[in-house]
Amino acid sequence: MARVKLEHVTKRYEDVTAVDDMNLDIRDGEFVCLVGPSGCGKSTTMETIAGLTLPTEGEVWIGDREVTRLPPKDRGVAMVFQNIALFPHMNVKDNISFGLRLRKYDSEEIDRRVERASDIVQLEGMLERMPDEMSGGQRQRVAIARAIVRNPDVFLMDEPLANLDAKLRVHMRTELQRLHKELETTIIYVTHDQAEAMTMSDRIAVIDSGELQQIDPPLVCYNEPANLFVAGFIGSPSMNFTTGDVTESGFTSDSFDIEFDPARMGVSPGDHVTLGVRPEDVYPVDQRESVGHPSMRIDARTDVTEPMGDEIFVYLVTQEDIEMDFEAAEAGQLLMSVSPDSDVDVDQDIQVVLDRAKIHLFDSETGDAIQHGLVNPTSRDSTTEEAEAGSDD
Ligand code: ADP
Repeated sequence: MARVKLEHVTKRYEDVTAVDDMNLDIRDGEFVCLVGPSGCGKSTTMETIAGLTLPTEGEVWIGDREVTRLPPKDRGVAMVFQNIALFPHMNVKDNISFGLRLRKYDSEEIDRRVERASDIVQLEGMLERMPDEMSGGQRQRVAIARAIVRNPDVFLMDEPLANLDAKLRVHMRTELQRLHKELETTIIYVTHDQAEAMTMSDRIAVIDSGELQQIDPPLVCYNEPANLFVAGFIGSPSMNFTTGDVTESGFTSDSFDIEFDPARMGVSPGDHVTLGVRPEDVYPVDQRESVGHPSMRIDARTDVTEPMGDEIFVYLVTQEDIEMDFEAAEAGQLLMSVSPDSDVDVDQDIQVVLDRAKIHLFDSETGDAIQHGLVNPTSRDSTTEEAEAGSDD
């Protein structure tokens, strides 16, 4: 077990800054996912921890040692990669124990460690099998067992499940969590799949263009994203974004308005802001009783629906967008998620409300979050707003 620290780590290739002034402090025994789109610098960050890449600037610490320039073998780390490189001519046991044999461990110690590792990843009874007699998931477990027998202080895993089919991937996620619980070892895990990161990690480090955007527990990244990038990347389908301006009485945009007291939400009239709301926080008006803080009604028209089984995604175009004859009405679409027994149909006029407690405001220029939740406990609250809207009917 060990704490892992990156201090101002930058890695530049000729004209690319793959990692840009990265600071990470991963606690002893923590499971942290590095997540972000392809090319954002996840693997390079991992390689600087593993010792496969020397940072251009900055320091890497594992435990109480600075390891920036130490070779991989002296860092106490074990790696599992996407491509499971097993030796095809060796059986499972020999594959798992290869590194130990190379380091001349005695055979009793090797047997003990192989037995424990194969027990943890549930490969008992398969030790004599050859790799080509095993499924993808089983081969990946051999690769993990090979890492376990080394008793590393830190596991580094780079997209280890990427080559597995969807069902097996979900199953292996659970296995990795179990493994983490059992070993209590620090695990740093690279993935581009936000769902994988959400389900497994103690904390998620969201990276974009080589820069750390936020490192927090999954639900904090989900409920209080630090900026537009995190808000859009975490959660599927993505958060809805509408750009507009702050007025004396709240938010106005081409698509819809939301009332609030700007002074209480950290914004001022004239500010350019982006309003964000997740699809599950948009409700048909007939469900507004179940919303703690419903916004004023928004008139909209349903466009396309996507039944997913456990929910239906409904694409809405607001009446304001339709009236403006927005060529880009599609761009102003608002996605709503409703329960499967909802009778929402395509090309219907509909009124929707947003849950004000779940509305986010971001600075349109910097992308930084300004406010999570537009609930104002003391002055005009949602009840007033909805009552006023209702009295127009
Ligand atoms: P990710 O793992 O998030 O997909 P990488 O860390 O592999 O991203 O790459 C980050 C950036 O650095 C990319 O633009 C990539 O092209 C670049 N890069 C990575 N390795 C090298 C290299 N050896 N030489 C030049 N550029 C590289």
